[in-house]
Order: sequence, then structure tokens, then C-alpha cells
Amino acid sequence: MTARILRGRVLTFVSEPNGPDDHESYRYIEDGAVVVEEGRIVSVGAWDAGLALVAPKADVIDHRPGLILPGFIDTHIHYPQMQVIGSYATDLLEWLNTYTFIEEQRFGDPAHAARIAALFCDELVRHGTTTAAVYCSVHAQSAEAFFAEARARDMRMVAGKVMMDRNAPPGLLDTPQKGYDESKALLEKWNGAGRLNYAITPRFALTSSPAQMEMAQDLVRQFPDAHVQTHVNESLGEIAFARELYPNLPDYVGIYEHYGLLGPKTLLGHCIHMTDREIGILAETGSVAVFCPTSNLFIGSGLFDRARMMAANVRIGVATDVGGGTSYSMLRTLDEGYKVLQLRGQRLSPIESFFMMTLGNARALGLDHVIGALEPGAEADMVVLDARALPHMRLKMEQAESLSEELFLLQTCGDDRVVVETYVAGEAAKGKLGR
Ligand SMILES: [Zn+2]
Repeated sequence: MTARILRGRVLTFVSEPNGPDDHESYRYIEDGAVVVEEGRIVSVGAWDAGLALVAPKADVIDHRPGLILPGFIDTHIHYPQMQVIGSYATDLLEWLNTYTFIEEQRFGDPAHAARIAALFCDELVRHGTTTAAVYCSVHAQSAEAFFAEARARDMRMVAGKVMMDRNAPPGLLDTPQKGYDESKALLEKWNGAGRLNYAITPRFALTSSPAQMEMAQDLVRQFPDAHVQTHVNESLGEIAFARELYPNLPDYVGIYEHYGLLGPKTLLGHCIHMTDREIGILAETGSVAVFCPTSNLFIGSGLFDRARMMAANVRIGVATDVGGGTSYSMLRTLDEGYKVLQLRGQRLSPIESFFMMTLGNARALGLDHVIGALEPGAEADMVVLDARALPHMRLKMEQAESLSEELFLLQTCGDDRVVVETYVAGEAAKGKLGR
């Protein structure tokens, strides 16, 4: 198989930026080349440092002056909510009961699940996202459809069937035993198949009985390498309900703590209204707080406190949370994230944002040994961005003098239209989608 060389301006992170001017945290090559073979990155360097010599033997794709980055990573998204996006509601519980819990019932139909899974993967690719942590519906066939689609495209994905056995319509409920059996069968079939990883997914404490929580705990014990994903402390009404359902436990995070669901592979969506004790438990267990800015603003849930999390050494991921979230784009997500933090009086520099979308989220998923950075041996998932893709951005770029300004413009004004190409395991995937 011949090598493929992507030529362009290469940007990849090596560590978490310590402030806006931490130039040691990333590697930037003005005229760079990424050499790809059999789905993996073979080398990364300057174009003129010898790579030009092998070029005649390789398939060269010239993306200059495009910016080549690791593919974006989304750490929390619901694929059965593609047709829920943009639904008008007062708050989280109304939004769930009026739209989401109705829509997700359609995923008992394998044909519907397969159709939406394909459209979902298309949408991620269109927006430059190559990996996501995905909630399926309660139906095992929804997870089957999603994994089959991701496997066919050779995408690195984390996903799981939602476990929920109460406080939702009957068409959306399993039982503790059924949720356990189906999750276990899916884990055995898909966890580690190709580039797929399974996430044990009790939706949240409101829809899982104590018996189901125990079953989820049993799965975590049996499959210690699997991820765990759920929601916590998103809205005040939800928190009050969780406390009512588990009156003997100290707080909402304490419910997941009690059932042994916390740890370095655990992703907790939202984490907005947190007590000091809860933050301490996240830090102690290495669990990840997932910041979902477009969703938190859209549903009106509240403002994530990044500085407080960082001060307590809590690991942080960032995510779209479609369909509560309003965009599939990680650029739009970090733009809204920036605004949330502005309202909190906190700073988020462009290099921190781009770290979060790539290596930061790879670390949050514990997958930074395979994705999130452009380095030899890594899986060749990449995105190519063009900060001059739109007329108003092109005009602004006449004034931009630094990489940091370019990144900030991409985040502030960019969306899928600035994504020139998305590479999945070394193959150009966006061009194939058409417009
Ligand atoms: Zn969610």
C-alpha cells in the first residue's frame, strides 16, 4: 500500500496549555507533512526536511494553506436525538418528557435506527469530528445499528445502550435484568471490536432504580476497561428529583459513588450545580466532568464553573450534547463555551480551546495513546480547516497576525463550512458526503 502525504500547516498539542502563551504545549509546522500508511500516522515533520524526497512514490494531497489538526473529539452526544435538536421547552424535564422520550421510542425499529446512525456519522464527519462518546436509546438494536455503522466506516467511537427502567414511557424502559443482559451482550460483541469501545450507560439516576444501578455496578466490575457515561447535576429540578429518589445518599454524585460507577473511565455530563463534596469525589476518583455549553445555554440549565473544577484537579471534557445541544460543531461548542466562561469571569484562550477539542478530549476518554495528537503510531484521524472559507472570515484574516488569532476566529465564526476535509483512519471522508 502506498503512503499518503498530507501537506499543509500542521498543528498538534503535546501537553495541556498553561495559559494563552504556552508555546511549549503545541507543535506547529508552517509547511508540514503528515505521512499516513494503513490508517496510521507514520511520521510528521517539515515538508522540506526529507519528506519531499519520498513524495514521488506517495500520493500527496496538498492542503496548503489549510491547517491540519487531529480530528475533533466529542465526549457526550445522543444519536437518537437528531430529530429532537431545536425543540422548544421550559426546562430539562419538560424537554425530556415532551420530545426526547417520545422520539427515542422510534429506535426500537432497526430500520429507523440504521438510517439515523448513518446520517449521524455523516454529520460528525461533516463537522470534523472523528470520535464521539455516544448515547444510543434503550433498545439494544439502536446500539447494534450504531456500532455496525461506525465499524463499517472504521471510526473510533465510544457508545452504549442506555439503561433506564423507570420514570419514562413504557416503550422506553428495560428492566434491571434486561438492561444488564443486553448491555453485557453488546459489551461482549462490540467492546474492542475494530476501533469501538463500549460505554456502560445508565441514563441518569432519575431513570434507573437502585436494582438497575446494582446491575450497572456488576457490569463495571466485569468489564473494567469499559467506559461509563451518565448525567449529573444539570438542572435544579432534576437534582431535587434525584435526591427524592435516593434520600439516604448524601448528594447526586453520591448516588453514582455508592454504586461504584465513578472512576477514570467515567464521563459525567454537565456537572453544573456541584457541592464541594461532589467536586472532591470527582477529583478523588479521577472521573471526568463534561462541559456541554450549547446545551446548558439552550436548556437554560446553568453555567459550568471550569476554574473551580481545575482548582480541585477535576478532569474536564467538552461536548456538544446534541440534541439538547444546538450544534454538531466542536468549533461552535467552544465558542459558546468561551461565552459561558466569560459570564463566569473566567478566561479560555484559543490554544486551550483547541487543546480541549483534540488531545484534551482524547485524555478525557483515556484514548490519548491512539487519538488526539498527530504523532507516529497514532490513528490517522484528522481535520483540515480553512480560516478563509467564508468572505467575512477572509476579510478578518487580512488583519490576523498570529496563529492564536486565526484559531480564535475559527472558533468564533467557524462551523462545518471551514472544515475542508475530515480524514478517518487516513481516508478522506467529508469529500465523499457531497453538500
Ligand atoms: Zn446528554
